[in-house]
Amino acid sequence: MKAWILEAPQKLVLKEFAPTEISENQIKVKIEEVLLANSDYEIYTGESRRKYPFIMGRNAVGVVSKVEGDNPFFSKMDRVAIEPYIPCEACDECKNDEYEKCSNMQELGNNCNGLLQNFVDLPYTLLHRLPNNLSNEKALFVPYVAFCLNVIDALNLEKGRHIAIFSSTKTGLILAQLVAYYQAVPVFVSNREELLDAARSLGIFYSINPDQVDVESEILAITGGRMCNELVLLSNSDFNMKDVYNVAAVNANICLAGYSNKESKLSVAQICKKHLNIFGVYNGAGSYSSAINLLVTDTINVESLIGRTVPFDKLDEEMSKTNAADLVLKSKIVKIN
Ligand SMILES: [Zn+2]
Repeated sequence: MKAWILEAPQKLVLKEFAPTEISENQIKVKIEEVLLANSDYEIYTGESRRKYPFIMGRNAVGVVSKVEGDNPFFSKMDRVAIEPYIPCEACDECKNDEYEKCSNMQELGNNCNGLLQNFVDLPYTLLHRLPNNLSNEKALFVPYVAFCLNVIDALNLEKGRHIAIFSSTKTGLILAQLVAYYQAVPVFVSNREELLDAARSLGIFYSINPDQVDVESEILAITGGRMCNELVLLSNSDFNMKDVYNVAAVNANICLAGYSNKESKLSVAQICKKHLNIFGVYNGAGSYSSAINLLVTDTINVESLIGRTVPFDKLDEEMSKTNAADLVLKSKIVKIN
């Protein structure tokens, strides 16, 4: 077994371990590909600190290498996407079978060791079998689509309504496609030109850069003065909160989505004055099967988000040459032989 260990910020070391024995209900997965996105890069640089040593990697696909006991769901060589959320099974929500609401959720590669290793032992409940016609590269985006599905579930989506999406990250591109799929109208607001270009080529007609135009008057014109009843702010983004309040209609819902460490100042006065309803969505737990289906049918297009392939054993060299701007639109893909 081999794993990349982050021993300190920007210090990755490849280590070998003795093979492990899997226990009842576990499956040994050979990891084939791991996605490297901005949030992983922030962990690598130490901008987002972890307890070291730490194994990065939240999004991965692999093949089943060994099954313990009689498991009717998986057999050797099945291709699988790995759901990184491990519910605690002890909190009130878990005892109520509402695992996706677990108040003590562990997430591989975020608050516990992740998937940048060649073999992992996992409970079979975290695995989702992949259809043959879904490539590994596309399947790496299953967690993004699942997360956006949970955002959609939390919103009150109505046909023809304008939904403002404030996003400095590629997650906003997936969310905008989903909003359009559910027949609402996405208004994509981003300060990243490469994301705005990608949005336009995906058919997201209203794509606005707040550094270049006045967002409030643009959205006033787009919505015929009604402004937006539903807004999403991807929490890993840099925006002036004033813009977000200004385009919200009275009684609007604002969804803060994601788990970034970035802080935004919320104005209590603005929230009260407009009777805004603000809530958070943190993960994609519970929506993996639907996400796989949306990707295999090409309902969600992630082609423009697939970046360069990096060999597993060259990861340290590659990371030392990477900078945050390289990963805004395209994620790198680590291939494990
Ligand atoms: Zn729990």
